[in-house]
Amino acid sequence: MSIQSNLNIIKSSLPEHVTLVAVSKTKPVHDLMEAYEAGQRIFGENKIQEMTDKWEEMPKDIQWHMIGHVQTNKVKFMAPFVSLIHGVDSLKLLQEINKQALKNNRIIDCLLQIYIAEEESKFGLDQNELNELLSSSEFKEMKNIHILGLMGMATFTEDQNQIKKEFTHLKSIFDSLKHIDGYRKDALQCVSTISMGMSGDYKLAIECGSTMVRIGSSIFGGR
Ligand SMILES: *Cc1c(COP(=O)(O)O)cnc(C)c1O
Repeated sequence: MSIQSNLNIIKSSLPEHVTLVAVSKTKPVHDLMEAYEAGQRIFGENKIQEMTDKWEEMPKDIQWHMIGHVQTNKVKFMAPFVSLIHGVDSLKLLQEINKQALKNNRIIDCLLQIYIAEEESKFGLDQNELNELLSSSEFKEMKNIHILGLMGMATFTEDQNQIKKEFTHLKSIFDSLKHIDGYRKDALQCVSTISMGMSGDYKLAIECGSTMVRIGSSIFGGR
């Protein structure tokens, strides 16, 4: 099946409140353009260099989402154009994003990545680290970032109950954000996004409250 028809099938299966990030990592510009021509404007990449190359080459009305793990020293390369950074998992990284956003005279939207999987290899904050970050004085001073919500990745498993448990956990942390004391209200006022769900588990993720799905192989084929 073509990229265009894959995209249309997925789009027609998504509720209106769910945003589709087309995960185009490792795929050539030609493939992305096929999705672009079918109307897709949000693309997700997991390497800053690759995302920057594609940004330079492609139409400027694309919103680029960084979905991978971000190294602090590379933030500066995407700060001029990145639309949403999904994988923010430390105060230090947030401070660097804030600094680079200020240099570019921008406010950069971010999601905080929460650790929900059983796999040690995955990144993210736990509930305590999240609360600590949001109530820190350093966080309160950052004027050039907006936290739009949370992101998480479930364990890579066939066990639907396990995945459901992890997504539900992320949703409950998301709901608890409203009750954290001392957070900077203006930075959190637009918290509305839960980025969870990939090709294999996005339907379950939506049932569990996802508002943003990151889908790659079901659109562009295997990598
Ligand atoms: C690659 C990737 C995806 C998309 O995975 P598919 O299974 O191809 O849909 C989603 N989220 C993250 C963080 C990824 O790295």
